[in-house]
Amino acid sequence: QVQAADVDLQKLVNDVHKQFLSHKEGNNPTYIPALAAVDSDLFAISIVTAEGKKYSAGDINHVFSMQSIGKAFNLAALINQQGAQAVVDNIGVNATGLPFSSIMAIELNEERSVNPLVNAGAIATVSLIKAKNADKKWKIIESNLENFAGSELTVLKDIYKSETDTNVKNQSIARLLSNYGRLYDDIDESVDLYTRMCSVGINTEQLAIMGATYANAGINPMTKKEVVQAEAVPKLLAVMATSGLYDDSGLWLYKVGLPAKSGVGGGIIAVMPGKYGIAAFSPPVDAAGNSVRAQLAIEAIAKKLNANIFK
Ligand code: GLN
Repeated sequence: QVQAADVDLQKLVNDVHKQFLSHKEGNNPTYIPALAAVDSDLFAISIVTAEGKKYSAGDINHVFSMQSIGKAFNLAALINQQGAQAVVDNIGVNATGLPFSSIMAIELNEERSVNPLVNAGAIATVSLIKAKNADKKWKIIESNLENFAGSELTVLKDIYKSETDTNVKNQSIARLLSNYGRLYDDIDESVDLYTRMCSVGINTEQLAIMGATYANAGINPMTKKEVVQAEAVPKLLAVMATSGLYDDSGLWLYKVGLPAKSGVGGGIIAVMPGKYGIAAFSPPVDAAGNSVRAQLAIEAIAKKLNANIFK
């Protein structure tokens, strides 16, 4: 079987970048005006191995908003603080099978159980994290993401503002959760912190390092810092596998077989446990909100590397 060690990974990212460079399908999301304005032609790919080797191609210096990708890593901050069972007890871990901003997802069952990787569950995750005040809570959220990336990160102000001006639906989601006793802190503050997290800027190499930290059982391969306990990593990857690409998660797992998380900003991170993180970025998304070219690029790379958790 082909192993990553047998493949020239730099050539692979270059080839796959070239293969999909002129692929035009999907559209920038319009419900967040600042995302509609991002250059649709931007395209970047990075692989970072569990040993910390880095391979990138394309617009690798472009910083984009991580959006929902943050959900899959912020969940680790909650588990670090309160343990894995807190997620089951207070949020839920089953796939909703519904779009990421679904209100219906909250109405599906008596327990109001959702999933930490859709908006409702991600806002609930933010609300559950304990801190003295909003500033301190933001510090926990931000430093957790930075620990995964192994570098300082900043909020993209234009995205944050644009999303804050238009996030009425997320405010509604938070209010409905609160009504059912499934939001655990101030409503507006939780939505604001969630929105800020979605607006954090990242490039594909940093994103691949975040993925490689999961691939390396919770230890950042660049900084060698333990970011999340090894025993929590399979649980975090399990929710990514079942819900990381929203209502297309099943299709993704069927085709590619890797836990992954997408963001409506055009980024996707996939993880091959023990091996590497594969990140790709391209703004135009499909109907489910997943980047078209990022999916194609990661699928092609995974195929070439024989990377599938079920193999
Ligand atoms: N910030 C976005 C939202 O709340 C995140 C959604 C996404 O990336 N799918 O709508």
